[in-house]
Amino acid sequence: MEYSKPVDVYRELEKTRSRLEMTGIISKFLVTVPEDELSVIILFLMGRVFPQWSEKEPGIGGKMIIKAISSVSGVTESRVEDKIRETGDTGLAAEKLLKRKTQTTLWTEKLTVAKVYENLEKLAGLTGKGSQDRKIGYISELLSFADPEEAKYIIRIILEEMRLGVGEGILMDAIAQAFNVDPKLVENAYYLTSDLGEIARIAKLKGNKGLEGIEIIPGRPVEVMLAQKIDSITEVLEKFGTVAFEIKYDGARIQIHKNGEDVSLFTRRLENVTVQFPEIVKYAKENIKADVAIVEGELVAIKSLKDRHPRPFQDLSKRIKRKYEIPEMVKNIPVEINLFDIIFHEGKSKTNEKFKERRELLKKIIEETEEFRLATQIITGNPEEADKFYRDALALGHEGVMAKNPDAPYQPGSRVGYMYKIKPVMETLDLVIIGATWGEGRRAHWLASFLLAVRNPDTGEFLTIGRMGTGLTDEHFKEMTELLKSEISEEIGKDVKIKPRVVVEVAYEEIQKSPTYESGYALRFPRLVRIRTDKGPEDADTIERVEGMLRG
Ligand code: AMP
Repeated sequence: MEYSKPVDVYRELEKTRSRLEMTGIISKFLVTVPEDELSVIILFLMGRVFPQWSEKEPGIGGKMIIKAISSVSGVTESRVEDKIRETGDTGLAAEKLLKRKTQTTLWTEKLTVAKVYENLEKLAGLTGKGSQDRKIGYISELLSFADPEEAKYIIRIILEEMRLGVGEGILMDAIAQAFNVDPKLVENAYYLTSDLGEIARIAKLKGNKGLEGIEIIPGRPVEVMLAQKIDSITEVLEKFGTVAFEIKYDGARIQIHKNGEDVSLFTRRLENVTVQFPEIVKYAKENIKADVAIVEGELVAIKSLKDRHPRPFQDLSKRIKRKYEIPEMVKNIPVEINLFDIIFHEGKSKTNEKFKERRELLKKIIEETEEFRLATQIITGNPEEADKFYRDALALGHEGVMAKNPDAPYQPGSRVGYMYKIKPVMETLDLVIIGATWGEGRRAHWLASFLLAVRNPDTGEFLTIGRMGTGLTDEHFKEMTELLKSEISEEIGKDVKIKPRVVVEVAYEEIQKSPTYESGYALRFPRLVRIRTDKGPEDADTIERVEGMLRG
């Protein structure tokens, strides 16, 4: 297929933000796409070269793109940079610069989708000496075959700046519409394989019957089953009778795929984090006694292999983000994993089996070590026993427990009520607002992000403890802006300092130690409960109270 075909579609999509219209445009187009090109076309529509779960990345920096544009358009690199600054969009800058050249060039060959993909795929495989020049070469080659508008989109895809607003939801609807298949089956197949290209191909070739046959594929992340909230142990015992209680570890959910010697790790958002955790890969190879298996667990950062105290989530998050100097990270921030489910084993999906059976299987195939072990669990219908398990978990510093139905299957991608979390309700804090930032776009005239502070009763100072921007409705923003505007004491760019007058009641997920704020603490996910017009700054909570809450 010629690359000009999808470009016609991108242009049309840019003209609308209506979900319905976008679905219509895409579904009409998908019908015309040959089956072996559906995968690439779908990735490009989402503005990606590789699926989110793939380890591959184009690995292209802005500098390389500038060099490529310069060499093809014949203008200097600094002029390319000027154009990018002027337009604020590298793709658009390339289009404009290449247009000038158009008068003198005649294309003989039409650029194809296959050629675009072929060159972009080559980028990912290149590393080491000389790789930069070769990458620039592949991009330049594409840009020289492309017309200016095509070049714009090629660059946007490489830089992940496509921003057509086409997400998985729209694509699933479009696939269902294009090939006249049941949207529920498309969704289910997507939860199992995370591969819309393959789903579109099957839908086109085999319709509903084909989609029904789609199964989990080791190496492709499965959308995880989600938990709901429940208020108490009593409530969950009433619901299920007998309940599997497990510690709720505070870390990141990881799906481990073992397929012979191949191991892949995925986060809950289906990102591939295999390179970041070589020690987990090693455990998976050595301690999963199966050839093929997909297991799930909670990854937790710990102080050291001797002192296994959990560390704050930020430390784990550092490891998830870091893709280089891995051995150093492995040493400095050790991790352990607490396994709690198995969804695939030796060629068979286990999602339809009962949780208690899956747990038995997990137990059988995992050779446990300190770092690679099963989540602590009890199965009980006895309220006292359940209560004790909950209290012990909290006393050990865990955030709560998970309560699971032992007889329930695993339902990928859904909050179906087979699994609940029980956590103590955090006490709220009354905090003073001492700063804010003006919003952007629609919220430009409102103060949008509020700097929160606790009181130091000894000095009368207010010490920062976090920033709050969520939990607020438009009405709130308006009200807060009106309340705070007259208290602004200084403006530095978009930031304003505010005299400590207004008190807000704030809920949050957790209090953490943090060097970022003056108090030495930070609230995780602070959100507004209400504005306390009945309180003055002298009534705000103190740093001592925060310290006391942290000590418990
Ligand atoms: P939440 O993210 O607050 O909705 O809580 C659900 C999350 O708790 C899961 O997605 C897991 O990441 C995590 N979790 C921690 N321990 C367990 C466990 N034993 N079983 C299931 N999920 C757990």
